[in-house]
Amino acid sequence: MTDNYKNILSKLPSHVELVAVSKTHPVEMIQQIYDQGQKVFGENKVQELVEKQLLLPKDIQWHLIGHLQTNKVKYIAPFINTIQSVDSEKLLEEIDKQAEKYKRKIKVLLQVKIAEEKTKFGLEIHEAKEIFQEYLNGKFPNIEIKGLMGMATFTDDKNQVKKEFTLLKQIFDKMSLQRKLETLSMGMSDDFPVAIECGANSVRVGSAIFGHRNYNL
Ligand SMILES: *Cc1c(COP(=O)(O)O)cnc(C)c1O
Repeated sequence: MTDNYKNILSKLPSHVELVAVSKTHPVEMIQQIYDQGQKVFGENKVQELVEKQLLLPKDIQWHLIGHLQTNKVKYIAPFINTIQSVDSEKLLEEIDKQAEKYKRKIKVLLQVKIAEEKTKFGLEIHEAKEIFQEYLNGKFPNIEIKGLMGMATFTDDKNQVKKEFTLLKQIFDKMSLQRKLETLSMGMSDDFPVAIECGANSVRVGSAIFGHRNYNL
């Protein structure tokens, strides 16, 4: 596992951040990767994240990468570093409210739907732009929109994946003209090299580090 981790790191240009996706894997494995120097981990379920957070070092920067229900924001608001999976305005309003309550700023990425599949969560492109505009106008004062997150269609067709990542990079660049965005999160174990080629500066890698998950989430 630590060899996998080092191998992935060696493939990342220095401007690309690695979010180690530890969902379904036990805290012992996370600790092992942490001991190699990794500080940023991603989880996709609130309950699992809360349980792990209690047991692991406090300087871990936890990213939530899975669909978040509005009524669960309160459980992660005290400690979450970044919520990558903001897929509705209602959710953003709740994050803002909880951030205020805990007197902190919560970083978020807007998850934009770029895949062909209908099943993926995410904002339509126009919705992401509208929310960003409201943010620039002063709505959501307790939130910091750091950038965009996207998932490509699950396919072997590299051109399709490339097309989708390139689209998100274009949206990212366009929005950055209004206010500089920092993070473009695209790419997972199977497609992170393509994502980086297309402009990703943050990748979410799980199984290529931790091995295959026992159950599919
Ligand atoms: C599980 C997950 C990943 C990591 O997937 P791997 O294929 O295991 O690298 C990345 N992003 C999201 C949103 C995920 O749910």
